[in-house]
Amino acid sequence: MQHDHDIIIVGGGMVGAALAARVGHAGFSVGLVEHGDAPTPPSGDYDLRISSLNARSLAFVKASGTTLPEERCCPFRHIDVSNQDGTGHSLFSAQDSGMDDFGIFIENRTLQYALWQRLEQLPSVTCYTQCAPLSTITSSTGRLLELDNGKTLSARLIVGADGAQSTLRELAGINVSSHDYHQRAMIINVETELPQQDVSWQVFTPTGPIAMLPLPGHRASLVWYDTDKTTQAREQLDDEALKAAIEMAFPKRLGNLIRIVARASFPIKRQHAHRYIGKRLALIGDAAHVVHPLAGQGLNIGLQDADTLAEIIIQGRDPGDYVNLLRFECQRRAANQAMIAATDSFHHLFTGAKPLRQLGDLSLQLAERFPFAKRMMMQQANGLNPFKFH
Ligand SMILES: Cc1cc2nc3c(=O)[nH]c(=O)nc-3n(C[C@H](O)[C@H](O)[C@H](O)COP(=O)(O)OP(=O)(O)OC[C@H]3O[C@@H](n4cnc5c(N)ncnc54)[C@H](O)[C@@H]3O)c2cc1C
Repeated sequence: MQHDHDIIIVGGGMVGAALAARVGHAGFSVGLVEHGDAPTPPSGDYDLRISSLNARSLAFVKASGTTLPEERCCPFRHIDVSNQDGTGHSLFSAQDSGMDDFGIFIENRTLQYALWQRLEQLPSVTCYTQCAPLSTITSSTGRLLELDNGKTLSARLIVGADGAQSTLRELAGINVSSHDYHQRAMIINVETELPQQDVSWQVFTPTGPIAMLPLPGHRASLVWYDTDKTTQAREQLDDEALKAAIEMAFPKRLGNLIRIVARASFPIKRQHAHRYIGKRLALIGDAAHVVHPLAGQGLNIGLQDADTLAEIIIQGRDPGDYVNLLRFECQRRAANQAMIAATDSFHHLFTGAKPLRQLGDLSLQLAERFPFAKRMMMQQANGLNPFKFH
């Protein structure tokens, strides 16, 4: 049977677009279904949604021929982790792991736009915007996808990359387990007196971490985790009052704060799909898992799903082959479960009851004393195998 595409990807966010670019670059016919519009070029001040891309994610994005605009990327070489009372502190340097840097901070919209620019250059990729799936059924050699614009498409594999509220996951009857941390992350973009440098820092407090992600020039992205109630109260502050609150709570290393540029807050949840695959169907990215963002790994593990699935598709004969999809599920579920457990433990170790927090402090002291343990932690965070010497 002739299909419209080899692969249909539902969701043109960073993870879906990255998979489309990689398999499109390898010559597969791809249909990308996105319910929004195509992204527009980033301009003006930095957006609030920033992500860290580790070494493996960057290599994957570049393997599709995508070019990222250097002027909107901020490489970072150090990660400084401490607790508020100064009893635990650890400085991780890329150099200690034999790397030039840990990766980059980039706006989500800049990465998504760069990927879509690449898709436009690939003749084997077709983007269907402003439409969403209504139903899906399998056929003997593929799967059909009925869209809400009246079209029905068919492919040998359909991939759900449509985020935490995935419609494709729901249509496939795949359930999730989820947990609400009753915390929010307030993201505040600020202009600082000093240019931000190549260090990203995080300070654990009993109510949640506070973090600074450097952006190019005199800009930084602050992340302030706290309870739902406290964050909602903080959101009511005007810019001057919020600036004063930041100056009180954050370490003095920012230099003087010139102004608040933008702010918003996001609820913190974890979620894991019970299955990543079905007949001629796979889930990747937030459609499959959502992790606590304190370690900045949600997008990275989503891109690793896309990387693993792309490799399996490129090496196999039939992109929807069930045995290959099982290999994908085995590899990625174990890795993602480990990341969910790690971020969950970080949350409890640093924001839990006092004995747990003492254990958290001890883990920072141990990481500082044993360079080997530190190096393993860094390689894990970079998507590299910590047991392999690079
Ligand atoms: C506060 C915060 C900070 C974070 N910081 C980091 C970080 O530093 N590093 C990191 O690695 N991760 C970070 N993350 C996590 C990261 O943002 C997510 O893991 C990532 O955005 C997931 O990408 P995705 O493409 O899977 O999903 P999404 O970004 O949600 O994209 C889904 C896409 O699918 C489309 N879509 C949705 N429904 C449909 C439908 N029915 N039909 C068609 N299209 C549809 C949407 O329009 C969208 O384009 C953070 C998360 C939060 C909340």
